[in-house]
Amino acid sequence: MMKMKQIIMIKYGELTTKKENIQYFIRTLNQNIKEKLKDFSVTTHFDKGRLFIETTKKDHLLIIEKLKEVFGIHEIILGYKLETLEIEEIEKAIGELVAEETFTTFKIETKRSNKKIPLTSVEISKTIGAYLLKNLPNHKVDVHHPDLLIHVEMREQESYVYFKTIKGIGGYPVGTLGKGILMLSGGIDSPVAGYMTSKRGVKIECLYFESPPHTSLEAKNKVIQLATILSKYNGSIKLHVIHFTEIQEAIYKNIPHEYLITIMRRMMYRIAEKIAYQSKAKILINGESIGQVASQTLDSMKAINEVVKLPVIRPLACFDKLEIIDIAKKINTYETSILPYEDCCTIFVPKHPVIYPKINLCREYEACIPVDALIDQAIKNHEIIKINGQEKNDYEDLL
Ligand code: ATP
Ligand code: MG
Repeated sequence: MMKMKQIIMIKYGELTTKKENIQYFIRTLNQNIKEKLKDFSVTTHFDKGRLFIETTKKDHLLIIEKLKEVFGIHEIILGYKLETLEIEEIEKAIGELVAEETFTTFKIETKRSNKKIPLTSVEISKTIGAYLLKNLPNHKVDVHHPDLLIHVEMREQESYVYFKTIKGIGGYPVGTLGKGILMLSGGIDSPVAGYMTSKRGVKIECLYFESPPHTSLEAKNKVIQLATILSKYNGSIKLHVIHFTEIQEAIYKNIPHEYLITIMRRMMYRIAEKIAYQSKAKILINGESIGQVASQTLDSMKAINEVVKLPVIRPLACFDKLEIIDIAKKINTYETSILPYEDCCTIFVPKHPVIYPKINLCREYEACIPVDALIDQAIKNHEIIKINGQEKNDYEDLL
């Protein structure tokens, strides 16, 4: 039997259009894959077309499941590596491999990145096809709907053969676009917003506002759990926890109640931006969706947004709640998000929140509380929890 080895191959897909940055994108993807697979013994190498992962056979399927959570992967292939560029040897190897497959019709598709090989891709496919037809008299070629599609790739010194490709989740490798601060509540929306920005290659740090004793430890645990799910896609995550109680109480005591939420959210945005500067993040991310609640009307967004300079990315701005729920279910955050624990916003909700807040009134009301001192204090006292995406997290020691 010809010497061949099973190997996992990654196709980058959309990345290949990013001409100038391609090396940086692939190197980051390689690092992210190694981080994701750190519990396995693997070696990786890459060129501009493919990334290769070699490991022991027993781990292949587990590793493929993990790779399905890595952004920047377009397709995952479990193929065979042949240490040869000789057509006769490749034919023989394919003859052995197809013996395990059930099919009547087939098609051969060849890619030849090594242009020194004298035959064209089409000629190679024809040659190998003729060999198979000779050895498998009951089989036929079908170029439109073959039972078995046999891929042959001939590279610098070796060839690869595979039959199936598995869809990856696409997007850009996390980190290639820099960092953002995700305002993560325990709700349905913000984890989905975090997932969507991760897909665009943004590394996230999460920021949660808690108001003990008005909010419970369960509510905080829920957010930790959500960040843990996000870390499957984003790698280890820093979760900043801001103690928001004093701020909320100051607002509650001193500001007309219809403006409670508007001012509270302006305070959240200001704190988020400060944390972003400290963490060298370039954007703020949240789960706001136009019109969903009073604080998400266009007037509210305008009044709240004006306190920060950094761009605020709202991946869900134009999504219906049902569309958001669909994604939450797909990424596995939904069941956690619907656990019934109090959020800091739900506790101080006024009966009639303003729908068309006025910026000059916001400023006037804010003059009644020591905005800067409250913010500085909250940031000084804030807690950081590291979520590493593994079974055991650092936070378990803290609780
Ligand atoms: P829901 O699914 O109930 O809408 P939500 O998290 O979207 O939950 P909203 O009141 O709509 O809640 O808040 C809008 C956005 O503001 C959230 O998506 C989140 O990004 C941010 N946010 C709200 N509350 C908090 C909080 N306690 N900590 C951090 N971010 C918050
Ligand atoms: Mg919401």
